[in-house]
Amino acid sequence: NSQSDCPPDVETLGRGTWTLLHSIAASYPESPSTSQQSDLLSFVKLFSKLYPCWVCAEDFKTYLGKEVPRVGSGDEFGKWLCGAHNDVNRKLGKPEFDCSRWQERWRTGWKDGRCD
Ligand code: FAD
Repeated sequence: NSQSDCPPDVETLGRGTWTLLHSIAASYPESPSTSQQSDLLSFVKLFSKLYPCWVCAEDFKTYLGKEVPRVGSGDEFGKWLCGAHNDVNRKLGKPEFDCSRWQERWRTGWKDGRCD
């Protein structure tokens, strides 16, 4: 539709960004090296300064201050990110996501075969 040719609004930007962030978690190693861990931590912190929805970025920075990103493995980071996304969901009145299933949504596909 013509909307997709327009500059992104907060919703379109958000959906695309969550897709990128959860996909980074899905491809992050189970046993990351020290430099991979510090790269991910730097990325998350820089992201919180550059995300071009400023109210969103401010709240995300506050969340980072309360809940330090866990970058010790893909599953650890995926669960941390799911918690961060749920914090935004709560704020916007959207349903919370069951974080025990983040890998089905973003890495393996649903166990019922819906993505096959
Ligand atoms: P989205 O929230 O974009 O989610 C996309 C898909 O991710 C969902 O369909 C679902 O399958 C899956 N999903 C949902 N929750 C989780 C979870 N917890 N873990 C894993 N997967 C999940 N918008 C504002 O109006 N105000 C804000 O302050 C704001 N802050 C934001 C901060 C960040 C860092 C980001 C990336 C986005 C922010 N947004 C904000 C945008 C908002 O989060 C949504 O992206 C937007 O409202 C579109 O929502 P949606 O219903 O399409 O689904």
